[in-house]
Amino acid sequence: MSEIRSINPYNAELIHSYKEHTSQEIESIIKQANHRFKQWRETSFSHRTECMMAAAAELKAGKEGYAKTISAEMGKPISQAIAEIEKCAWVCEYYASHAEEQLAEETVSTDAHSSYVRYEPMGIVLAVMPWNYPFWQVFRFAAPALMAGNIGLLKHASNVFGSALNIEKVFRKAGFPEHCFTTLKVSSDKVKAIIENPRVRAVTLTGSGPAGAAVAEVAGANIKKTVLELGGNNALIVMNDCELEATLDTCVNARYQNTGQSCIAGKRLLVQEDIARDFIPKLVERVKNLKSGDPMDKDTYIGTLAREDLAEELENQVQNSLAMGAKLETGGKRDGAFYQPTVVSHVTPEMPMFKEETFGPALSITIFKTAQEAIELSNNSRYGLGVSVFSKNIKDVKKLIPQFDEGAVFINELVKSDPRLPFGGVKESGYGRELSKHGIREFTNRKTVYIN
Ligand code: NDP
Repeated sequence: MSEIRSINPYNAELIHSYKEHTSQEIESIIKQANHRFKQWRETSFSHRTECMMAAAAELKAGKEGYAKTISAEMGKPISQAIAEIEKCAWVCEYYASHAEEQLAEETVSTDAHSSYVRYEPMGIVLAVMPWNYPFWQVFRFAAPALMAGNIGLLKHASNVFGSALNIEKVFRKAGFPEHCFTTLKVSSDKVKAIIENPRVRAVTLTGSGPAGAAVAEVAGANIKKTVLELGGNNALIVMNDCELEATLDTCVNARYQNTGQSCIAGKRLLVQEDIARDFIPKLVERVKNLKSGDPMDKDTYIGTLAREDLAEELENQVQNSLAMGAKLETGGKRDGAFYQPTVVSHVTPEMPMFKEETFGPALSITIFKTAQEAIELSNNSRYGLGVSVFSKNIKDVKKLIPQFDEGAVFINELVKSDPRLPFGGVKESGYGRELSKHGIREFTNRKTVYIN
């Protein structure tokens, strides 16, 4: 039986070695989950609400401990890990309060005596999830899925199994019955067989493009619904007339929070020519002052990357861009899984830092002259998750919104997820939506009822 090892990226120590579930164990878990579905789908919204509110309470009560596991497993600074857990409590409370109204029957007037749409659960939904927000990525799937009457099966990233088991514990402590939400301890090579299992009805994946394509291929061959939330290469467009200080703060946060490991991070800073001379040195100064250090220290803002190979990949992207003529403004050094907060200017669309997703604390800077040029640069990406535009002239920026090939446009704010708003991308950033009423309806059977 193979083992999956979880290594602390900050000190390279082994945290735990997990025994993988065998094929027989997986089959038995899925059978029991399917049995549970038949009961869970019959429960009332008020019962599910009670359980989901209890999950929120458990998250709040246990946030320090859960956060410590996250920080140990993937190097996230502890204060950001605590904030992540608090956000999970919010999404639980949000769906506990809104699921019933979001899934209420919708009357449609037709030739029938009565006709309406019902939102019914689909069954077991497999979630293949990444390590960058080990709790949040899972809760934003699980809270709506469970409230809709579905069953969750989690295949988490191999480096965060401690968090994965903690999430199962949160739901069990909150009163969700056994097999409503189960963590599978499996590596990615077992995912194909799980999707092929006839009892599994749908899959959601957050992660890289290749992982998304592999999962969607198997799901497609088995006619199963998928939602994919993949990479992003968001631009931060800074116009001459922006509010300078606030824009600087927001841009630094957009790129460097979570040590830059976020699909919606602002990775490409596009700054208008006239303000660039003032903006860039101030930005570099702020980045130099970011506090790097031990993820367990409450003052740390920049931790380590989740794995050393991820830091090496980022180092290569920066080095290759510099070799093509970009200019290093600050940072650029790696020590194991730690990568210095880095700013690189004179970046052009041919360079890796512009073309590829950089998943770590490195910001690329490109200067533009006109708003039209900024839109073209922003759209010059295979991804389409979101964009931020900074300007005091909201009236003019609003006119540009339809031209962005993105899942979201944020004005004077970093792109962020909010339980009340749909979240997801276009192009190679994936398809489908999470959060809000759009997210909860993804894994439902929209049943048409026609009565004459
Ligand atoms: P992956 O996309 O490989 O991992 C995400 C999840 O998918 C994990 O649970 C992983 O399992 C699983 N997975 C990977 N390959 C397959 C497959 N062929 N079939 C089924 N499941 C699979 O991310 P990485 O950790 O390799 O990170 C690489 C890059 O992905 C990052 O640098 C970043 O660009 C992007 N990424 C994007 C994220 C986002 O939020 N959109 C989050 C994380 C990464 P296992 O861990 O066992 O391999």
